[in-house]
Amino acid sequence: VTYTGRYTVDSRDQLLAKISKQLKPARFEHVQRVEQTAIQLAKQYGVNVEKASIAGLVHDYAKQRPDEDFIKAIKHFQLDPDLVNWNNAIWHGIVGAELIKSELDITDEDILDAVRYHTTGNRYMTKLAQIIYMADYIEPARDFDGVEKARLLTSQSLELAVAYQTKHTLLYLLENNQRIYPKTIDTYNAWVPQSG
Ligand code: GDP
Ligand code: FE
Ligand code: FE
Ligand code: FE
Repeated sequence: VTYTGRYTVDSRDQLLAKISKQLKPARFEHVQRVEQTAIQLAKQYGVNVEKASIAGLVHDYAKQRPDEDFIKAIKHFQLDPDLVNWNNAIWHGIVGAELIKSELDITDEDILDAVRYHTTGNRYMTKLAQIIYMADYIEPARDFDGVEKARLLTSQSLELAVAYQTKHTLLYLLENNQRIYPKTIDTYNAWVPQSG
């Protein structure tokens, strides 16, 4: 993918260099696998391939920031004050998008929304956001019960695949006595019941 300059002033190589400084090697490898998976899905589903590449590469940009960076950003960008009661799992997407915007100068809201909602999903998700949500779940190194079913569904129907992941993530969180972020419930209500 050759970048046009529409969504970032950086070339792909320049963007990769910035991301690699933020992430440990294993996480840097993961985001490149998510990028490649997202590009394939973008081609299949008629989504802008450059946006899929950028969103895939940046989706975990903030994953290895210290908690204090997120607390500061929640205040500085005047995000929902309840966010301070959560943790890295929730912050790195929703708050991470603001760090990407300010530090990488990526302002396309479709890309930023795909980052925001890659962990919890959202009631409304663009096709790009659905692709990043699924690519993160099914990239080639993912290995969990149900990943093959998730890969098959993703190749057949993005909507059914989003519903599948949302239901199985919620089941996993419940089984492990984890707190459920309200947006995760919203995503469940929007995507799962009507999918049968
Ligand atoms: P990764 O960044 O590539 O590892 O993957 P994700 O960003 O998709 O997920 C990060 C973590 O957030 C995973 O361990 C999910 O199980 C967890 N997660 C997703 N939704 C919720 C939620 O509502 N509550 C909590 N506590 N964790 C969640
Ligand atoms: Fe993530
Ligand atoms: Fe995910
Ligand atoms: Fe990820």
